[in-house]
Amino acid sequence: MALNTGKILRVNLSSGKVSKDVVSKKIAADFIGGRGYGIRYLYDEITPGIDALGEKNKLLMLNGPLAGTTAQAVSRWMTCTKSPLTGAFARSVCGADFGAWMKFAGYEILIIEGKADKPVYLHITPDTCEILDASEIWGKDTKETQEWLTQSHGKNTRSACIGPAGENLVKYAAVVSDRRTAGRGGTGAVMGSKNLKAVAITASRKLELGNPEAYTALAKEQVNIIKNNPGFLSHKEWGTTSTQDVTNAIGIYPVRNFRYGQQLNYKEIAGTEYRKLRVGDMGCYSCPARCGKVHTVPSGIYAGAHSEGPEYESIWAFTGTIESNSIEASIAADQLCDDMGLDTISTGSSIGFAYELYEKGLLKKSDTDGLELLYGKHEPMVALVTKIAKREGIGNLLAEGTMRVAAKIGHNSDVYAINVKGMELPAYEPRGAKSQGYNYVTASIGASHCYGYAAQDIFGSPEPHPTDRFSEENADVVIFNQDGTAWKECGVACTFSGGWGWMPLFGKMVAAARGIDKYSDAELAKVGERMYNLERAFNIREGFGRKHDTLPKRMLTEPLHTREAKGEGQMVTHQDEFLDKYYSLRGWTKEGIPTATKLKAMGLDFAVKDIKAK
Ligand code: SF4
Repeated sequence: MALNTGKILRVNLSSGKVSKDVVSKKIAADFIGGRGYGIRYLYDEITPGIDALGEKNKLLMLNGPLAGTTAQAVSRWMTCTKSPLTGAFARSVCGADFGAWMKFAGYEILIIEGKADKPVYLHITPDTCEILDASEIWGKDTKETQEWLTQSHGKNTRSACIGPAGENLVKYAAVVSDRRTAGRGGTGAVMGSKNLKAVAITASRKLELGNPEAYTALAKEQVNIIKNNPGFLSHKEWGTTSTQDVTNAIGIYPVRNFRYGQQLNYKEIAGTEYRKLRVGDMGCYSCPARCGKVHTVPSGIYAGAHSEGPEYESIWAFTGTIESNSIEASIAADQLCDDMGLDTISTGSSIGFAYELYEKGLLKKSDTDGLELLYGKHEPMVALVTKIAKREGIGNLLAEGTMRVAAKIGHNSDVYAINVKGMELPAYEPRGAKSQGYNYVTASIGASHCYGYAAQDIFGSPEPHPTDRFSEENADVVIFNQDGTAWKECGVACTFSGGWGWMPLFGKMVAAARGIDKYSDAELAKVGERMYNLERAFNIREGFGRKHDTLPKRMLTEPLHTREAKGEGQMVTHQDEFLDKYYSLRGWTKEGIPTATKLKAMGLDFAVKDIKAK
């Protein structure tokens, strides 16, 4: 067996220097790949306190050991950096083919440093890496940009790029590949701050696997397990376009900026209604689920709008936030976000926040460029998406994210700013799904639904044990979900595939890809825990602590209204007790700081001095 730890391509945009390296055996053993490598390298390479949009920040693009192989749903990739939205660690996962193409070019990590003095893009092949002039594509949307790159470099090219939002440093700008986005945390703004429009890779299919025979057998076994799995078949049919049926029914679909848990007449936005406008599906490299459901609007004011999506979060972002039942408007807004390179969740949430400020008189028509932000009215919402991306008028303010907007407006508007650590909440109401809410509170990147998705609360998942979704006592479940997500994202395995029955093969597949003996379940669990502790240490070093681990005031002080669903009057009332228990189970101090003993037990001795300094 040949040892294969993964290769690194490092590009400094200030100096133009390009270099290559190989991941050490120690880092490979301790962190596996993907998000593991992301936090391990970022921790070493980022000086605490730097400006996330300054020259000293670094942008990492990472796939995993399984990328580009015949195995299914394992070619996802991600961006890691210091977030301009939160100031904390950022990891944002993306799909399509780019992760596989990184591997075909020979790389598992791209480290992008410095800042170009004019717009550029990278063109990477297995033998070369050039920094090229991007003046022809600067200003173009993400679709036009990728088409231009394919025309320029040939059909064996895949790219990841930013749109106008990233160029304009919108704090929640995304990186887009095909029609998939690394959406959360503003990693597109970091790319824009470096004057980097795109990374294009031209390569043919080629892989280096440590033990190809063993890997091929495992990949076949994986396919056989997945193909008849009910979770897989359901996801293939619907993607996430019907999740709103579940969340509305149980009263956790956030409506009117998180005041209600159920939308009036929600059957108008049911999965079956989206199904009527579906015209196709799209997916990621080597994944038969093709869960991106493509929709086209046939008529009306949004006629011709066409999107790979919206998926659940984006459906919510452009319906629930302003209580609109217009499927057509949600498709139009979703398309705009993909074109402009915006995170749909933070975009929709910022718009929902603006509607509430307008209702409360804290924004007036003279502040909103004449737009009337009235609940149910979707035309202003769609107009705001473009304004945010271009930082036009009121869009320039909303481009900063809800936390900064509230700080600027004052008048207690922070009560309506629904974020954790500056990251806007996704589409699950914490008061009706409290383990999900506490995942938002303690997730390293801010309020992410998929950092430790509480399927126990939402779908009744029985592992590690069932939960009462109104209980605030399930710190062990939150940790189980977070650490489990972490090790899977070393693959990079798609989070959806975690329920398709093949996860017992994951450690064996990683070992075969790397050319080592095995990864036991216990070792995988320890890798996940190690990653989580290092991410926490990164954030502590940046000045975060217990006081930042909190849900928005609304969840702590206002009862949830669920209309016809169960959960009326629910609030989060035991956050302090939860944090005490969570920190204790994690082996952290009462202030939420990993202890030296814990860090050493995780093999993170190098982080002890940083934590002691705090
Ligand atoms: S399930 Fe969907 S998101 Fe996941 S890898 Fe497959 S196509 Fe991509």
